[in-house]
Amino acid sequence: MDVLPKVVSVSILAMEALKGRVSPSLKFYNQLVEDLKMEWAGHNGEKALIYPLSQLENNKYLIFHGLRLQGDGYTVQLDVYLISLYFSLILEAKNWAGEVCFKKNPKQVVRIVNDVTQGMPNPVEQVKMQQHNIKKWLVDNQLPSIPIEGYAVFGSSTIVTIEKGYYEAEKFICKTDCLYSTIRKMETLYKTPVLTHEKLHEIKTQLLEKNTPLIKNLYEHYRFERSVIITGVRCPQCLVLGMKYKRKQWCCACGCNSKNAHIQALRDYLLLFGPAISNREMRWFLHLPSKSITSKLIAEVKLEKVGSTRKARYKLPWDLVYSTSFKSEKKV
Ligand SMILES: [Zn+2]
Repeated sequence: MDVLPKVVSVSILAMEALKGRVSPSLKFYNQLVEDLKMEWAGHNGEKALIYPLSQLENNKYLIFHGLRLQGDGYTVQLDVYLISLYFSLILEAKNWAGEVCFKKNPKQVVRIVNDVTQGMPNPVEQVKMQQHNIKKWLVDNQLPSIPIEGYAVFGSSTIVTIEKGYYEAEKFICKTDCLYSTIRKMETLYKTPVLTHEKLHEIKTQLLEKNTPLIKNLYEHYRFERSVIITGVRCPQCLVLGMKYKRKQWCCACGCNSKNAHIQALRDYLLLFGPAISNREMRWFLHLPSKSITSKLIAEVKLEKVGSTRKARYKLPWDLVYSTSFKSEKKV
């Protein structure tokens, strides 16, 4: 059962929002495009785990995707975490292209892509560190201890070789197509429940409550000023920014009219500037003609007011990030 389903991370969405609102001639643009490629590859690697996990007995496991927990001086970030009454399991998705070799002496991981050999961070050590940290996190939060297994899971197209005698790599490495059978095999090793249903529920509640998704500060990361961000409402048809608000609808030079094209712009605002917006900021970002029209739109979107009347700001809900209204938008 997916308790924390797989979604596109806020970081990816914010980077996409940024990419769509800056000029490609800016210095950091190419880096942003490259980083996005990596992020999407990671996302797709994690998505590849969904099918084998969906084949498991439905109510046996609680499945958390993209869990991020903070402890005192450490962070636990898990692509997938499964918990049952019997054991728990960390899965680290590795969507690596090419051939990957786990060398024993010294312990190292080498990747070969297009005849280029490259040293990589060792997924075995990464999984071990995560096991250590989640164990510590459970103790720090006064939660019951539970066996913690872990795998780095490589996509079926990656060629993985493990040097003879590197037993830890054999223990911690798995391929996507073997994941289901590996978990089923593990079930035969853990036959006695170590948790009650109440304790399992307690762990689930704590994990969901303390999950803190990473929101990368893009301004610091790419070192740019807010002024480089191109404002305006994007046309859902021709995708050009700068629709005009006339008679309660958005009009584009291409002839497209829309009643709710501002939703996507507000979503970009939330991702790029954070969850609070004033009347003035909304007027600036959406290119609205007056304060009163902006107020009407704020009322229509039903934004919650925060602060005193003079300095009032409005709360943009994080749900907006996963809003599908833009996609299902009907042209008028
Ligand atoms: Zn247009």
